[in-house]
Amino acid sequence: MSDNCLFCKIMSGQIPTTKVYEDEKVVGIKDINPLAAKHFLFIHKEHTANFSQMMEIDPQQALDILKAIKKYVAESKMEEEGFRIVTNQGHFGGQTVAHTHFHLLGGAPLGPFGEQGK
Ligand code: AMP
Ligand code: ZN
Repeated sequence: MSDNCLFCKIMSGQIPTTKVYEDEKVVGIKDINPLAAKHFLFIHKEHTANFSQMMEIDPQQALDILKAIKKYVAESKMEEEGFRIVTNQGHFGGQTVAHTHFHLLGGAPLGPFGEQGK
């Protein structure tokens, strides 16, 4: 738990959210500003600022998140339909919340990947 972290506050219940998944270590929520027909955020309950810090402190956390996503897609139609997993880091990555999270996008065919990175 980190003070003044939006996702820590969401996970402790201080800020309301719509959970789609939860286990001992990971929470999946609906993104408040969906960029796809289905857009969820998978977040570890341990606070780290970004992907690099997570991998330095405890890479198992990344596996916890990916396993949670695998469970979620297997239990929904998304595994059959297809989906995209993204994590943004830093300025060029467009990260806006400094608590590591993986976006799970799908629900309909997605546009070209990385359009603005040309
Ligand atoms: P990123 O830009 O990769 O850091 O992703 C942050 C994501 O958090 C964005 O897609 C936002 O729409 C989403 N977001 C911001 N505030 C909330 C909230 N209160 N509940 C759910 N998602 C949020
Ligand atoms: Zn946090």
